[in-house]
Amino acid sequence: MSLIENIIRPDVRALDAYHVPDSAGYLKLDAMENPYRLPENMQKKLGEHLAEVALNRYPVPSYTELKAKIRETLGIPPGYDVIVGNGSDELIVIVSTALARQDRRAKVLAPVPTFVMYALSAQFAGMEFVGIPLKADFSLDMDAMLDAIRVQRPSVLYLAYPNNPTGNLFDLEDMLALIEAMKDIGIVISDEAYQPFAQTSMMSYLPKYPNLVVMRTVSKLGLAGVRLGYMSASSELLAEFDKVRPPYNVNVLTEAAVTFALDHIDVFNRQAAALRGERETLSAALSALPGIEVLPSSANFVLVRLENADTVFEKLLAKKILIKNVGKMHILLDNCLRITVGTPEENKQFLELFSACLSQPV
Ligand code: PMP
Repeated sequence: MSLIENIIRPDVRALDAYHVPDSAGYLKLDAMENPYRLPENMQKKLGEHLAEVALNRYPVPSYTELKAKIRETLGIPPGYDVIVGNGSDELIVIVSTALARQDRRAKVLAPVPTFVMYALSAQFAGMEFVGIPLKADFSLDMDAMLDAIRVQRPSVLYLAYPNNPTGNLFDLEDMLALIEAMKDIGIVISDEAYQPFAQTSMMSYLPKYPNLVVMRTVSKLGLAGVRLGYMSASSELLAEFDKVRPPYNVNVLTEAAVTFALDHIDVFNRQAAALRGERETLSAALSALPGIEVLPSSANFVLVRLENADTVFEKLLAKKILIKNVGKMHILLDNCLRITVGTPEENKQFLELFSACLSQPV
């Protein structure tokens, strides 16, 4: 037996690393990034701000200033604190680390299809992932969800609000019924990565439900490269998650960049508003194309269903357009493509090439 076989878990050896396609030279509409950079004057000021940062020192692990800025600008209810992570990806790992157990296999529940990191992180931590299919219209299958809660007794339920890759918001009454059903069983994480485009949140329910956690990120707002996620919940719960958080998980440059950026939150809010408008324009233009079903989106991407999605995806790639082919992720997504909303020029270019691909014979 080789050293690798001896020491690396079989389930890890069987995995593929998270694949991110090389996008150099492509029109990049695959990863739900904000297409706008910071305005030039802000870039310059940010550069000056970052030059002052003491790179020789570790971050202060309490991240007091950064957290205060998040609370002040991003709608955390009074009296609620946050913990920060290297993107929400790290927060998901922190949650799994805190909930995985040695005495029994703890469970992670989520409707599927959804963001893949919930299942992956569960697997990494040795937890069992239970995925309950959404209905055909991508709403929650409440009977199946409530059954799964009763029978499986999951430690955590993830609800991406809006959901990725379907783009829809689940019904609020359904969300509340699930949080209620999980009350003495486990926590419910409302993952609000796309909140700037949905403008709705479970944040105001934190005081009512001690088992509710709200997770967000600055990635989709326009700071995907700096990697910062944050999570709010009762102080008792946050204190437990904080124990398994690596002490210096957010670096000083990220801390300084986000603190600076949030002083200019109106810039990001205007960009999000523009993207919400562009989403509607793009959705309407796609709906006008023959054979395209456009699914309603509350996020900064649009999901479409069409015949021969694989072929169209490959043709777009050949034309240097990168979107996401999600058709193989789940049976409910058969023949679906996910398109991130870009600038008006990018969307126009995409639409032209997309229509050209549709009209070419397969
Ligand atoms: N949650 C959802 C629902 C997402 O779609 C994503 C990223 N695509 C994330 C979390 C991860 O965000 P971050 O960049 O903060 O790690």
